[in-house]
Amino acid sequence: TPQSNLPPRERALGFLREVFGYESFRNHQAEIVDEVIAGRDALVLMPTGGGKSLCYQIPALVREGTAIVVSPLIALMQDQVDALRQNGVSAACLNSSLNGAEANAVEQQLRRGELDLLYVAPERLTMPRMQELLEDSQIALFAIDEAHCVSQWGHDFRPEYIQLSILHERFPHVPRIALTATADARTQQEIIQRLALENARVFNNGFDRPNIRYRIAENNGNAREQLLRFIRNEHEGESGIVYCLSRKRVDDTAHWLASKGLNALPYHAGLSNDIRQQHQSRFLREDGIIIVATIAFGMGIDKPDVRFVAHLNLPKSIEAYYQETGRAGRDGLPADGWMLYGLQDVITLRQMQESSTAEETYKRVERHKLDAMLGLCELNTCRRQALLQYFGDSLDKPCGNCDNCLTPPETWDATVAAQKALSCVYRSGQRFGVNYLVDILLGKSSDRVQQFGHDKITTFGIGKELSSNEWKALYRQLIARRLLKVDLDGHGSVLLTEESRPVLRGEQQVTLRKLPKASRSSTRRSSH
Ligand code: ADP
Ligand code: ZN
Repeated sequence: TPQSNLPPRERALGFLREVFGYESFRNHQAEIVDEVIAGRDALVLMPTGGGKSLCYQIPALVREGTAIVVSPLIALMQDQVDALRQNGVSAACLNSSLNGAEANAVEQQLRRGELDLLYVAPERLTMPRMQELLEDSQIALFAIDEAHCVSQWGHDFRPEYIQLSILHERFPHVPRIALTATADARTQQEIIQRLALENARVFNNGFDRPNIRYRIAENNGNAREQLLRFIRNEHEGESGIVYCLSRKRVDDTAHWLASKGLNALPYHAGLSNDIRQQHQSRFLREDGIIIVATIAFGMGIDKPDVRFVAHLNLPKSIEAYYQETGRAGRDGLPADGWMLYGLQDVITLRQMQESSTAEETYKRVERHKLDAMLGLCELNTCRRQALLQYFGDSLDKPCGNCDNCLTPPETWDATVAAQKALSCVYRSGQRFGVNYLVDILLGKSSDRVQQFGHDKITTFGIGKELSSNEWKALYRQLIARRLLKVDLDGHGSVLLTEESRPVLRGEQQVTLRKLPKASRSSTRRSSH
């Protein structure tokens, strides 16, 4: 074991090499490890596969006492503990899968200071009994994994995470490190605020996953044939995940792929625990298994050689899309994020959102997230640039590794339409949402339009050449390209940006992807 009289960075490197067998730190690992070893808080944003675990595992070994790791992924704790033990690290977990005697034994180990790391489920950590146990033990640090679960606006909200602020209140001198692979600027702020991480240094590794090739296409009416062709042509015999929106679609798709001779297994919450465990562990341990799953599958799955993630339905947000595709290619080798979507997906997702019992403000955010996702689908420019921009990250030039970069789609000159859409935003005072703006462009004289006098402004009725759906798609595109932005704190009003001005002044052209026929008609009633 590295000697305790060496400087912390040396000791950290010693553990990295001797315990984990790696030569050097990567990304911001070294600085993060330094920060935590020195007893300070850290917030780590690192893409999947970036190497978050070592950021707390190494300080756990360097610092005196036991590191407490909070993770929502009970199913995976045991795997992580086993992997650590194989490296000779003393690790254990406390969760609902242990019986009373087993839990007692682990608690004894903690009290006696025999553990380097203890993985704990969030709901258990905040129980009074656990808090007392922690008071009686020496704690090296708290690691809060999947920290975005604390965000009510996020897609993985876990109410138990909110309680984790007590860690700071009861153990103010124990350093905390929060980690996540997915957090837009708003979620980052929420993590900081809810977990009282105001003093934490933020390490942002960026979100780019350059080895993942993003491809998004319309469902041509026979999605499973498209999927089969994709797998046979490009991923024969390789491991992959296929996401579907419903359990029924999962069962049908898995069954159908299997009937075509592929190694496909279903996974969703409607299957028994046993079957799910069995399918998950076959996927992890065998080569060439395809898991067909609902989003119930995958959080925290650490399988480095997943060669493709396919979506047969539209994910409900860019965060979800990014996180799910992010399960491909953790080993850094080329991998595919391949997706089909149809307008029916949009309708189904909107209906699910509308029928939920959530608060209106929450639903509004969900609607905008879905629109942003759709905007990404309809884009004709680099997907990666748009994806990164969504997370507040950036990429100087088109990536060359997404479908739009590789085979530019058919486009039309939308400059005049974009000017109309932008000036309508401007003339009505940047206080309205897309549906209302489209009414003005189409010259629909509703009570509301009259009440605001918008039937008198110059943009009233100047957009009759496009259908309501086409205008909505155009607005989504303008938002996806930052030519407009949505004010989420208000009522979803759209606002001009710096980038809108050159278009309004006629100094910049706007070219957009041609919409498929099915998306153009206005007969469908959107549930906005
Ligand atoms: P994350 O939790 O960020 O998705 P992990 O911590 O699971 O990522 O690490 C992803 C993979 O990279 C793992 O197989 C891990 O062992 C490996 N890894 C992490 N850090 C290093 C490093 N410094 N050198 C080499 N491999 C590393
Ligand atoms: Zn690209």
